[in-house]
Amino acid sequence: MTENKRGKLLIVGFGPGSEQHMTARAKEAILESDSIIGYNTYIDLIRPLLTNQEIVRTGMTEEVSRAQEAVKQAESGKVVAVISSGDAGVYGMAGLVYEVLIEKGWKEETGVAVEIIPGISAINSCAALLGAPIMHDACTISLSDHLTPWELIKRRVEAAAQADFVIALYNPRSGRRTKQIVETQQILLQYRSPKTPVGLVKSAYRERQVVIMTDLESMLEHEIGMLTTVIIGNNSTFMYDGKIITPRGYQRKYTLAAEEQPLKPHQRLKEEAEPWAMHQGQAEQEIQKTTSVLELAEEALEKVVGKSEVAATAVQEKRVSFQQTAVFEFAVSPGIVSKKLSPKQMLTLVETVGEEATIEYTPDHQLKVSVETNDPNGITEKLRAEGLLLLPIGDVVTIKACDFCDGEKADSIPQAEELQQLIGGDSVPKQLHIGFNGCGMACYGAPMNDIGLIYRKKAFDLFIGAKITGRNAHVGQLVAEGVAPDKIVELVVSIVNDYKKRGLPNERFHKFFKRVQIVEGFTYKEVPDQVVVDAVCGD
Ligand code: SAH
Repeated sequence: MTENKRGKLLIVGFGPGSEQHMTARAKEAILESDSIIGYNTYIDLIRPLLTNQEIVRTGMTEEVSRAQEAVKQAESGKVVAVISSGDAGVYGMAGLVYEVLIEKGWKEETGVAVEIIPGISAINSCAALLGAPIMHDACTISLSDHLTPWELIKRRVEAAAQADFVIALYNPRSGRRTKQIVETQQILLQYRSPKTPVGLVKSAYRERQVVIMTDLESMLEHEIGMLTTVIIGNNSTFMYDGKIITPRGYQRKYTLAAEEQPLKPHQRLKEEAEPWAMHQGQAEQEIQKTTSVLELAEEALEKVVGKSEVAATAVQEKRVSFQQTAVFEFAVSPGIVSKKLSPKQMLTLVETVGEEATIEYTPDHQLKVSVETNDPNGITEKLRAEGLLLLPIGDVVTIKACDFCDGEKADSIPQAEELQQLIGGDSVPKQLHIGFNGCGMACYGAPMNDIGLIYRKKAFDLFIGAKITGRNAHVGQLVAEGVAPDKIVELVVSIVNDYKKRGLPNERFHKFFKRVQIVEGFTYKEVPDQVVVDAVCGD
């Protein structure tokens, strides 16, 4: 055979079905081919792209003869496109074509040319329609026992279920093959919560597309057929606003759950919310075998190679238990007024969070604690009982009060405490510092905060919009003097509420003030006023 007569096999994955989701190379390949071989439905899907290619239509189960025919035609010098939906290498024609070629002693150098053209497989197209269910380790399992023994498929389902893979089930069910999906659900229920999110996508990116969000226990109540892909979440997968989302990692960070700061669904670490993932109770801890990832992998492998048959009841006992280590972060201080940690409090802190925790001293007169735990409440209870003040961290309101000269200048303490109670720890667009100083000396630097308060002459001076960091750091603008004690808390709360309402995500308070120009009647000035600070400690 001379070089220019050498035929070519183009093994094309044309994606889910719509032309938009087909690669440019797949379209080109269809155009450059002399003949096209594929299952009837597939030919119909690419019909708009056809010019004058010869069409070889075959039925569903004639894959081997399709591959043989393609090789025969290529050997006669033709350019032949063999088409598969999705990706041709995923339960498609690519492997079969190679098998036929290999049987004939084909070698790349001397035989017909072969090009495999990748396409978007159903796991990806269907995932996109569901949200972001894949994200983490995932696998595909075809439930078709046409070419694979059912016993082996079952073992794979079990291994994947046990190892907490997100699973995409291809060929879940056909007119004749109906029991496989039922048995699969039963196996999965031994390892995952009945509430595990499940997505059913039929005919993704085709005319009769149907997307259904359900869960493991109810999935069989919906139509599942030959054109459906079933995506089953792992133990961290959650449903949010009609989307299925699997977080990127198992290690989760969360801070104190103030009422004003509802945790996102996947951050809910309460046992009621995730009974299968977190067994905190004593009794449950006894039953639960906390299985290491390595042990799980070994067990899964054992199942695949068939070393042991595990009785269904034994499996039941092992139901889940990925202890999802979560990092709990919070701030601790001796209180809004007190700046002194007693040795007893220090001891309790260390004993409660343990030696593995990180304790960081922050510029906000707080100790920031990071600790791996699945029992945040146990920790907070012990620390609070010792008189420590616990606060959330992140983009929240932090009240930084002075020590009121060790309590000697105590007149304004009630306002500081009230502010802490009303808005301390509240979520805001970006971390917000409120500096609160009990006399004109302002030795804790109140005006150098987003909002600064100085108690002086039985009333308050109010500063807003300091730029706390950077080379062009500056104090806040003095916007009011002599605000009465019974008005100040309300005023500060209104300013913070306005910032909560109109501030953009991540917008620092001074930028917000500059952008909106007027906050609670106070007008932004480009150059902050020169502030004359009283030199004498007192009022
Ligand atoms: N090669 C294809 C898979 C062929 S097996 C691919 O990579 O996607 C056939 C199975 O693929 C179907 O039973 C269904 O589970 C899945 N599938 C293929 N196209 C699909 C689509 N558009 N929407 C939903 N599922 C699809």
